[in-house]
Amino acid sequence: QRRGRAGQSDNLADVPSRSHAALFLHFKRPVMITEGKMQYLYDERGRRYLDAFAGIVTVSVGHCHPVVNEAIIRQTQLLQHTTTIYLNHQVAEYAKELADRMPGNLKVVYFVNSGSEANDMALMLARLYTGNWDVVCLRNAYHGMSIGTMGTCGQHTWKQPMPQGFGYHHALNPDPYRGAFGDDGPRYAADVADLISSATPGKVAGFVAETIQGVGGAQPLATGYLPAVYKMVREAGGVCIADEVQTGFGRTGSHYWGFQHQGVLPDIVTMAKGIGNGLPLAAVVTTPEIAAAMAGRLHFNTYGGNPVCSAGGRAVLRVVDQEQRQAHCAQIGAHLLTRLRALAAKHDIIGDVRGSGLMLGVEMVKDRTTKEAAKAETATVMESMKDMGVLMGKGGLHGNVFRIKPPMCFSRQDADFLVDVMDTALARL
Ligand code: PMP
Repeated sequence: QRRGRAGQSDNLADVPSRSHAALFLHFKRPVMITEGKMQYLYDERGRRYLDAFAGIVTVSVGHCHPVVNEAIIRQTQLLQHTTTIYLNHQVAEYAKELADRMPGNLKVVYFVNSGSEANDMALMLARLYTGNWDVVCLRNAYHGMSIGTMGTCGQHTWKQPMPQGFGYHHALNPDPYRGAFGDDGPRYAADVADLISSATPGKVAGFVAETIQGVGGAQPLATGYLPAVYKMVREAGGVCIADEVQTGFGRTGSHYWGFQHQGVLPDIVTMAKGIGNGLPLAAVVTTPEIAAAMAGRLHFNTYGGNPVCSAGGRAVLRVVDQEQRQAHCAQIGAHLLTRLRALAAKHDIIGDVRGSGLMLGVEMVKDRTTKEAAKAETATVMESMKDMGVLMGKGGLHGNVFRIKPPMCFSRQDADFLVDVMDTALARL
């Protein structure tokens, strides 16, 4: 980054293109963030921003939360790393505490370092356990950027022009706003039965989905979809994988886990991002029966389950419980939804307001009937909100959905400020 004459960074200068070889820029005029405190971020000039995107839904309980920080610092001073070839109480206690928060027989926990790695492992477990290869995933999905997970993604924007692996079949997205069958989950599920019988040998390794698609634009799956699909997939010999990378740990308010919204019990659950409040930490949780399929070979991960990340992850669980973050997300999320719906009544460009708890989406359209994506307008409003001090996320295949997923300590006043700023930015369009 160039430095201006006054010694200040020149980051408002023209940026030639949003896409560089190794750099992805969220804003046209990027921000340089140097400090964070709970729901606020500060740039290098000391300017404060309200963070409504939490580092892409990664900071769960708040930037530099003191309880998490203290746990990390204390563990760093005791022991940082040995790999799991020795025993250490932190990883064992953490696995127990995480398993205690899972329903059913989801009691075996593996720790890895990222969501992509967690989903890679889930796909491997599904294939080893079932002896089948094919996997059903959803259009509009995002599960990671590794060679193994890129094939599961359902947006061309996240696929390099190279082979995407084989055996991935993308079902119709059960999108209540744009989908052909509205909110009728079982009708979309019929497409999964068709895919299994037409594109696979009739047997599958599994099915993977988020219950509210994050990168896809805070898009909840149509009502009744997952129960119908889980049944079909199990009948075809497969297991069901729930990607909780964005929806887990109470963010969606009414439930601790996203899959609980649809009343299903997965066989494998993957988690990352908010699990560590920013630490590189992720997990795969499954049943002892499925885990046994991997026990015939060595499994090793240098950093997975390291004492520092385990101590941090344990602190996150404690904070979510003690500060009653799930109930808080439900309360603030409901207020935010009401205010955003009122904003939609005022601005025609808002086509849909959706989501749950503090995982909300606002879809921008040029015309409410054709639903043509208002892509440029979304980028303009996002930039203008940033200039007024609010950092928003965006997503969806066309980049026309605001993703509002702040740290879980977001207050009612923060919610009001966000909506007021959005109202001003929309009026300026
Ligand atoms: N699954 C979901 C639902 C995600 O949102 C992401 C990241 N955006 C991933 C998996 C991949 O996580 P990571 O970037 O940590 O590999």
